[in-house]
Amino acid sequence: MSDEHGSRAAEAALARAYEAARKYLRGVHEASNHVAVTQPEVRARLGTKLPDKGEPADAVIEALIRAADGALAPTAGGRFFAYVIGGTHPAGIATEFLNAAWDDKPGTPLVTPFGCAVDSLVGEWVLELLDLPRESSVGIVTGASMGNFLGIAAARHALLKRAGWDVEAQGLFGAPPITVLISEEAHPTVHKALRFAGLGAKRVVSIETDGQGRMRTDRVAAALATASGPILVCTQAGNIMTGAMDPFAEIAPLCRQHGAWLHVDGAFGLWARVSPELNRFIQGVELADSWATDAHKMLNTPYDAGFGIVRDTAAHLGAMDISASYLAQAAGARDPSRYVPELSRRARATPIYATIRALGRDGVREMIETCCGHARRMRDLLSARAGVACLNEVVFNQAIFRFTAPGRADDEAAADALTVEVTTRARESGECWVQSSTWRNRMVMRFSVADRATTAADIERAAAAVLRACDQALAA
Ligand SMILES: *Cc1c(COP(=O)(O)O)cnc(C)c1O
Repeated sequence: MSDEHGSRAAEAALARAYEAARKYLRGVHEASNHVAVTQPEVRARLGTKLPDKGEPADAVIEALIRAADGALAPTAGGRFFAYVIGGTHPAGIATEFLNAAWDDKPGTPLVTPFGCAVDSLVGEWVLELLDLPRESSVGIVTGASMGNFLGIAAARHALLKRAGWDVEAQGLFGAPPITVLISEEAHPTVHKALRFAGLGAKRVVSIETDGQGRMRTDRVAAALATASGPILVCTQAGNIMTGAMDPFAEIAPLCRQHGAWLHVDGAFGLWARVSPELNRFIQGVELADSWATDAHKMLNTPYDAGFGIVRDTAAHLGAMDISASYLAQAAGARDPSRYVPELSRRARATPIYATIRALGRDGVREMIETCCGHARRMRDLLSARAGVACLNEVVFNQAIFRFTAPGRADDEAAADALTVEVTTRARESGECWVQSSTWRNRMVMRFSVADRATTAADIERAAAAVLRACDQALAA
């Protein structure tokens, strides 16, 4: 097997993968957004039986390319507006090829100086880009889910340590109970993180939000006033429906006053920090104790890329550090695995490094501002039509729309049905991918812009497709 990598089949596999990737990227912008191939069909293409004998790598790649044909959501195409799914910068894609070839696993600085250096530099760059306290430490994780877990684990460490309890050593049985205040609009991954941390997804004080989905400061103040013992407050920068940011400048001083730990789930919304124009919606977020955010959403890096950021490095390490005698440490070097839940992991900082370097600070700001400008443009184009309402203040990249038939403004059930039908018809047209969802018990069409590939023309085209779908739904 010594020439495994140089063999004809291996070379052919690499070349074929590269060629197919280029072909895909050249076509994805014009590809239909209607994915007709179903999961069982893909299963049939993949073959159902575990193979007894291996095949040449190039044959496997060929089979994969065929199996994926028509079965991929064109999330990189620029007209995919469902969920907050970013595209991928070519610098990140190219780095993924190299990363895999290098088989890099940043962990032990003695063995892997390259990956460890990139990891630490990217952490510093992210603090600078997001203008968060420079003394913070950064764990590069798979995404905001793990970022939330990391922040909450650090909070648990620090809050219980202050109460005289070593949670890493003693666990939670018999520990002073932590009161958790959490937005009623919190993302499900925050509840999941609370579950992982042993704090209970349901053992929380749910804080009421305003019409945009922002935590109400008066409700936070009231809950803090009645809470006793250690307190964790979970807030959000970027509501997944409205993009709304919690009022951090009001909440943070209250948390300080009560010695509460303030965590921010800023999966996509924290990127408002890069823009003077958007930053005004997120004032005071820098006063928090921990933050979770993604790179694979607004920053348009490949997947499995996010950050858990903690102001107090001792709390961060208290929760995440690993020590084992066989994991030799190099003097003066930073071992990234001390800051994250996993030991072995891919070098996920490297594509992030490449993406930030390719864009530069100005490019990152411009990318985020452009996405948010597109969301406002969509709001203007759709709400110019009678019967179409944008239900949120478009403060970031999210807009939610509701459709009403002429003369039936009071019939909420009819508007629910029309909204779902318009959304489905627009998507099935292949022109753009929009998704229906619920907001305050009513159906809405949810629209997110998170891909640098999206152009002004794409927005015009998507708006036209949605309005055409509306005409068709009304005529049907
Ligand atoms: C996407 C998202 C998450 C989870 O992030 P992953 O990267 O999917 O782990 C958490 N919170 C919010 C608000 C999100 O949009």
